[in-house]
Amino acid sequence: MKIKYLDLQAINDSYGQPLLDAVNGVVKSGWYLHGCETEAFEAEWGDYCGARYSVGVGNGLDGLKLVLQAMKIMYGWADGDEVIVPANTFIATALAISQVDLRPTFCEVNQDDALICCDEIYLQGLVNERTRCIIPVHLYGQTANLQKIYEFASKHKLQVLEDACQAHGAKCSYKGQRTCVYSFYPGKNLGALGDGGCVTTDNQEVAKLVRNLANYGQNIKYVHDYQGFNSRLDEIQAAVLRVKLRRLDADNKRRMEIAGFYQDNLPGNEKYEQNTQLTDVRSEKIANQLDLKNDGTNVFHIYPYITNSRKDMQKYLFENGIETQVHYPIPCHKQKAYSMYGNVFLPNVEYLAAHELSLPNSQILTDEQVNYIVKTIVRYFDLNEDYVK
Ligand SMILES: *Cc1c(COP(=O)(O)O)cnc(C)c1O
Repeated sequence: MKIKYLDLQAINDSYGQPLLDAVNGVVKSGWYLHGCETEAFEAEWGDYCGARYSVGVGNGLDGLKLVLQAMKIMYGWADGDEVIVPANTFIATALAISQVDLRPTFCEVNQDDALICCDEIYLQGLVNERTRCIIPVHLYGQTANLQKIYEFASKHKLQVLEDACQAHGAKCSYKGQRTCVYSFYPGKNLGALGDGGCVTTDNQEVAKLVRNLANYGQNIKYVHDYQGFNSRLDEIQAAVLRVKLRRLDADNKRRMEIAGFYQDNLPGNEKYEQNTQLTDVRSEKIANQLDLKNDGTNVFHIYPYITNSRKDMQKYLFENGIETQVHYPIPCHKQKAYSMYGNVFLPNVEYLAAHELSLPNSQILTDEQVNYIVKTIVRYFDLNEDYVK
């Protein structure tokens, strides 16, 4: 059996003729930017997210940059002011900060869920007189602890920007005003056929300013209030996203189902240890897993498996037809691009970078494929009884 990590061709095929019709419709319309598809998608996505305002942008990175630049203007932040961001995220979260001349303060994550550490004492230690904002990243599709983050932020007069680029449709119990950025990169839970992104917010001023900045800093044509950017969600992508949005909840549900099967049947989960005759010998060899919630607050963009023998395990799975990935092998503060952070030490982030292995998970995987993945992993551990030292 051959299982790709992500089979985009099969995923997009599964939407059938309506997806092709959506593209065709735009091609034939003669209108490709700032049109009715984008406007309709913005409204539908805003509704879906329960946000008051929704602004389509070119991609996730742009969305993050545009919000930070808007906040910089609104609140009078200076170049070099600081933004707290977890170090185990896709580099875009950090780049967005740097590219609007702010400074990332890389922070630690929780051991049990890989999300931004919300320990108040710890976070307080990162705040100084130049700290302006904190960016929780809803990593792997899990909603971060927003209650704690927003409370902490309001206590220290910080803004909050949520990087929701991996968490389309993840439930959230926090009821306050939020600003979120989404990416519609093809591999995301809601993916375009190219680049796309959206900023959703309950803050009217943020929405207005993001829209202005994304359109060359103009509200009126050829009248420029700011040195803006060019960042657009185009009509073809918007039309595609409208078709795919109708199935997002069902697609996410399937991902949760697969994740549940992994959780129930893969070695290393507590449930596995309780329900089977896992030998003591074996349990020592198998790493503890993250405590992944499966109650709708996690849309399992990525299924992270924690292993003490990642290289070997990845090779074994590959030889048995199963493609996996690593999210992320080098944390932001260890990248050459951020070499000035060379002496920052974040043990949980670094542990994850060394032990995480992402298993295939998408709406089109069959029960047979998921079974095969689990069986192959169990066989791997059976064959490697004395692997971990
Ligand atoms: C995908 C992603 C981004 C960036 O999205 P692009 O559309 O590729 O620019 C930002 N943050 C996180 C956490 C992501 O996963």
